[in-house]
Amino acid sequence: MYTKDDITIEGNPILRQKCERVRFPLTKEDKETLKQLHEYMVVSEIDELVKKYNIRPGVGIAAPQVGVAKRMFSMNCTDFLDEKQTKYSYTVINPEIIAKSDLMVYLPDGEGCLSVNRNTEGLVTPRHYKIIVKCTLFDSVTEKVRNVKLTLEGYPAIVFQHENDHLDGIMYVDKMYKVKDLDPKILPLYTLNEEDDEEEDSKEEKSE
Ligand code: ZN
Repeated sequence: MYTKDDITIEGNPILRQKCERVRFPLTKEDKETLKQLHEYMVVSEIDELVKKYNIRPGVGIAAPQVGVAKRMFSMNCTDFLDEKQTKYSYTVINPEIIAKSDLMVYLPDGEGCLSVNRNTEGLVTPRHYKIIVKCTLFDSVTEKVRNVKLTLEGYPAIVFQHENDHLDGIMYVDKMYKVKDLDPKILPLYTLNEEDDEEEDSKEEKSE
């Protein structure tokens, strides 16, 4: 189980590296890293375990954040804007964003990161509202992998982009703005979802 001391902090050069692609079949070490990244996500949800292991809970953790410069991360978030409160729990290998919406959004409260300990209040990071990704998912129980194409929108899409950036040595603090300095076309995520979903279909997707 990773604890606070295992997490790399801003200033550590590994967070600025372009991570290597993961090769298949997975090595024992890679499987172990993937399992532990997933475990960190599971423990993050359980208050007692957060205390017991003295960790900072999170909705995503990427391999370079535990000192491994490979293209792997785990995410586990609930789309709190969705009536069904759908959970998005993925342990991801070699992700590729193959399409993204022109529409950009931001979390009004800003983002956070296990590797950033300073206060970034009042600053927000623009993200694509919708993304389509290709990746390999890892199952921590069976150790099986499968190739998938995922379409993510809103909060889970933001989490995915944050973690994906880590694999290219990019941190959310690199892309922060004061809301007043943002292009007015970039919208706060919450107000967006209060509106009808009808516009959705007319949104253009742009390939990378
Ligand atoms: Zn982060």
